[in-house]
Amino acid sequence: MSKPLSDHDKKKQISVRGLAGVENVADLKTNFNRHLHFTLVKDRNVATKRDYYFALANTVRDHLVGRWIRTQQSYYEKDPKRVYYLSLEFYMGRTLQNTMVNLALENACDEAMYQLGLDMEELQEMEEDAGLGNGGLGRLAACFLDSMASLGLASYGYGIRYEFGIFNQKIANGWQVEEADDWLRYGNPWEKARPEYMRPVQFYGRTEHHPDGIKWVDTQVVLALPYDTPVPGYRNNIVNTMRLWSAKAPCDFNLKDFNVGGYIQAVLDRNLAENISRVLYPNDNFFEGKELRLKQEYFVVAATLQDIIRRFKTSKFGSRETVRTDFSTLPEKVAIQLNDTHPALAIPELMRVLVDEEKLPWEKAWDICVKTCAYTNHTVLPEALERWPIDLFHTLLPRHLEIIYEINRRHLERIASLYPGDVDRLRRMSMIEEGSQKRVNMAHLCIVGSHAVNGVARIHSDILKATVFKDFYEMDPHKFQNKTNGITPRRWLVMCNPGLAEVIAERIGEDFIRDLDQLQKLRNFVNDEAFIRDVAKVKQENKLKFAVHLEEHYKVKINPNSMFDVQVKRIHEYKRQLLNCLHIITFYNRIKKEPNKEWTPRTIMIGGKAAPGYHTAKMIIRLITAIGEVVNNDPVVDDRLKVIFLENYRVTLAEKAIPASDLSEQISTAGTEASGTGNMKFMLNGALTIGTMDGANVEMAEEAGEDNFFIFGMRVDDVEAMDVKGYNAFEYYSRIPELKQAIDQIAGGFFSPKQPDLFKDIVNMLMHNDRFKVFADYEDYMKCQEKVSALYKKPKEWTKKVIMNIAGSGKFSSDRTIAQYAHDIWGVEPTLEKLAAPDDL
Ligand SMILES: *Cc1c(COP(=O)(O)O)cnc(C)c1O
Repeated sequence: MSKPLSDHDKKKQISVRGLAGVENVADLKTNFNRHLHFTLVKDRNVATKRDYYFALANTVRDHLVGRWIRTQQSYYEKDPKRVYYLSLEFYMGRTLQNTMVNLALENACDEAMYQLGLDMEELQEMEEDAGLGNGGLGRLAACFLDSMASLGLASYGYGIRYEFGIFNQKIANGWQVEEADDWLRYGNPWEKARPEYMRPVQFYGRTEHHPDGIKWVDTQVVLALPYDTPVPGYRNNIVNTMRLWSAKAPCDFNLKDFNVGGYIQAVLDRNLAENISRVLYPNDNFFEGKELRLKQEYFVVAATLQDIIRRFKTSKFGSRETVRTDFSTLPEKVAIQLNDTHPALAIPELMRVLVDEEKLPWEKAWDICVKTCAYTNHTVLPEALERWPIDLFHTLLPRHLEIIYEINRRHLERIASLYPGDVDRLRRMSMIEEGSQKRVNMAHLCIVGSHAVNGVARIHSDILKATVFKDFYEMDPHKFQNKTNGITPRRWLVMCNPGLAEVIAERIGEDFIRDLDQLQKLRNFVNDEAFIRDVAKVKQENKLKFAVHLEEHYKVKINPNSMFDVQVKRIHEYKRQLLNCLHIITFYNRIKKEPNKEWTPRTIMIGGKAAPGYHTAKMIIRLITAIGEVVNNDPVVDDRLKVIFLENYRVTLAEKAIPASDLSEQISTAGTEASGTGNMKFMLNGALTIGTMDGANVEMAEEAGEDNFFIFGMRVDDVEAMDVKGYNAFEYYSRIPELKQAIDQIAGGFFSPKQPDLFKDIVNMLMHNDRFKVFADYEDYMKCQEKVSALYKKPKEWTKKVIMNIAGSGKFSSDRTIAQYAHDIWGVEPTLEKLAAPDDL
């Protein structure tokens, strides 16, 4: 009998992981040992697993350096139009494996580590996630960087180097507890500080109006110190830059004034300035009007625009060095994409630089500004829209407030001339909202200051035009576009699911990794017995591996033959984790009622972080853990239902959970989830979706075929009709006995016997104050879940639908999304050209 293949040997067979040539492996071993000695200053007697990770990271990083320098030099020489993606969040996750995948080094590194007696996967586990994001918006920015590099665009990500990213979530006695994410504690091998490019950023002060222009004076200065991280394209030798700014107090901070004897205090107070880049605000889809957050938003914008303008002025084109002074060509050389309104201050800041500093006339500056900037909207939830109080603005950024008033004055003048006498329209469209407290509406500023405004899925872009931005669409229809979100197939397939990537590559070759539409070819294999078997086998292997992780972590026995039913995303009322809970409870009650029936076993997993200040979200987590305590310990249920709250959901956990999932829960109230990207990750990794007609689900069902998609619930029209008629939760509660039973159990302490009224707030909300109409979709959801269970009993039929989903997932590559932004908004063309490989390594 032949020995079963080890994990290591199995991986060697996978071609998508790159070639492991002998010379390659020998060099990697040499360089690894060199780094262990010279960089880590250790020998193998005292080296820790973390030392080995750092030695490997440095070895791999060396392969980026020549490519990075060469790429940046080619941009300098060819001077193409640059794309600047401005974002308060870049949710990057880990970098080592992604770098190895994109540079085709994975197999060679694995072999080198193996020969040195080390397990590469164990070393990878030592890397901290770069958790500089909350959820979908930040992860989208990260996927876009990968696609922009892979498509050869001269592009940059600009953001903040938070010292603390999204908190680590611990579950203690069923409750979420937050811990600080000290991700830089052991150093970050992927970043390079560039103190020589430090920039000053001003705050506070006042304006002085002189005949020759306006001056912003008596300001406080904070320095922005850039850290560069390489962003390699997929096997094209291109390496772009993500530049993140860190706040530094100037050396003379607080020492200028008549501060006799205040030296020690002044040095201590440097913290105040440096707090700007201390921590990511942990809200997803929620606006919190804190001064420090506004400082962060201006900090990234002011530092970035100085960089953009310096690069514009000094770039070399042709053979001669020139200093550009004619700003009218700025829009031909620069595109600025605003990831939501968070970097909206780029608009008044660009106006300030052009008018106050470069002395351009207002009209000229405004024309340049609009042609340069574009804005992506990510949500229609009113509580998420940024509306900054005027007082705060006036104190922190007095000149910018003046500029916004002037932009608004001209904007209102135009509306008045287009719609004479329509006073209400002026009020609705103003950038300044009147009321007990005046506020600046940042979305209105962005629409007016941009040449393109886009939503992130077809249905969402339609909703923008029909509702929240209706007036703006009527006035400037040409600005409004759709760019359906996408995900990078490198991280979300090749890297996290090499087994699936390999069985696909065996059928259609490896080109789908660059051109995901080629997955369509898999439709030819939907009746191919061997392919069906291979796809099912990969899923089973992924499930077994994840089950080991779960059993270690949660001390529950997992039935690997049960359906892995997964909902992972931020905890939010609109995402309706509560609807999932009602399904769990009803399924549990049905098993208890008929314990001898042949139920389709499920392992139901829910994971996600609640914003620390979001009480209801935290209670939802407590309810999920409470249901788990009852269900998981009920001997009647046994291994037919387990409920697990996946602790600390983040990019790295997504990479493990999604390839192991059978069923993806995408159950938001229609009209509330702008796009979703988690939904796409599941589809690409061979899960079926149960979902509402919301966000990108609509287009996913279209691509997969509705027969291959579990659609349920109200459509946007139904929700709107219900808003007119009024939603009456009690009507559903009293009419549907199983719903009533579930609610009565939650309300009566069935899941919290020691504290029967623990969930009274949740029950009250559901019964009397539910903006997201959970009960209205309950019946249809339950019926749909029964169909899911019935199909799961026919593994071959199930896998055929899985194949139809994978085959239809090509549209959801972020390469497609970025190609559309490039063509329709930025005016640049992607190239599939490769840069020559550098010969220094
Ligand atoms: C993709 C992703 C998200 C977004 O998920 P949605 O279901 O679209 O909200 C959030 N968090 C992480 C860690 C992700 O990888």
